[in-house]
Amino acid sequence: MRFSSSLVAISTAVFANGVTAASNSSLPRVSIIATGGTIAGTNSDSTSTTGYKAGSLGVDALIEAVPALSNISSVSGIQFSNIGSQNMNTSLLLRLTKLATNVAANGSADGIVITHGTDTLEETAMFLDLTYNESLPIAMAAAMRPSTALSADGPFNIYEAVALAGSKEAADRGVMIVLNDRIGSAMYTTKTNTRAVDTFKAAEQGYLGVFNDEVPVFYFEPSRVYKKPFFDVSGVDALPRVDILYGNIDMDVRLLNYSVSSGAEGVVIACAGDASLPDAWADAAQAFTEQGIPVVRASRTGSGYVAPADDTLTSGNFNPQKARILLQLVLNEHGGKNSTLIQEYFDPYLS
Ligand code: ASP
Repeated sequence: MRFSSSLVAISTAVFANGVTAASNSSLPRVSIIATGGTIAGTNSDSTSTTGYKAGSLGVDALIEAVPALSNISSVSGIQFSNIGSQNMNTSLLLRLTKLATNVAANGSADGIVITHGTDTLEETAMFLDLTYNESLPIAMAAAMRPSTALSADGPFNIYEAVALAGSKEAADRGVMIVLNDRIGSAMYTTKTNTRAVDTFKAAEQGYLGVFNDEVPVFYFEPSRVYKKPFFDVSGVDALPRVDILYGNIDMDVRLLNYSVSSGAEGVVIACAGDASLPDAWADAAQAFTEQGIPVVRASRTGSGYVAPADDTLTSGNFNPQKARILLQLVLNEHGGKNSTLIQEYFDPYLS
């Protein structure tokens, strides 16, 4: 489907509550929720892509920077936060999923775009995909270069994300990640490179689709991650603390003990290779898991399946940061005692 680009009167308004709207009633209505990040970042120098200030432009400026949006959609903006995504936290995530659910439920939009920093985008995307249960699609857009840079990638990423969110083809596909002309899955896509524009990938699972200009071209019918769970967090204000520890030669098991003694209710370890652990760690991890503090072995390699183990839990297809989000939600719903049940969330192929 190609959107009409006929010229229709566009009205733009900035409301007192920070909501900006460019309305055209014949086009899909897309609500843009801005959270900050490099996509809203500015620098004094157009040739520098480091040392900029993330989250300095408001949602109205993001919309105004892409006049072509008015050809494909009727957009409105909500300023949720304006932070570097390294400052995202569970409390904000819980508010964000409730906001997206409200926007979907109140019928004010046909699709949602969330702009976000790239550093933790994959965590927010996974959290939303596990806690948002509406058919209205969410397209997450980000940028590797600040808005002031030569070849800034943000405006085109926003344009494609708005096109995706407003597309009928996107319904029932949940949360997707849009950068660099690709559509990625919220559950599996990860940031793979510190600098490159082509950084979001899912090495094993691949992309969901690409764009032909602004038209999304999907490779598959709407499909779900295998037995993907939904966690209703509508009445939840906090989630259990889950830490991630990093595996390496000489790793000191006191780090694991400290994590648990200081309040972590679960721990994910970014283990070396195929999630191996030194003996002292394996023993401690098993003991904590048996006490109801699940320890999940994931891999620091960046891709690959981690198979079930006898002593601890394992992360299946999820990298450490995504496994952490899943474990927080599972612990909140079931507590940490039932290892078999928890393992099935990471490895639904077992049941
Ligand atoms: N530190 C920034 C952030 O995640 C990086 C980016 O957006 O690319 O907000």
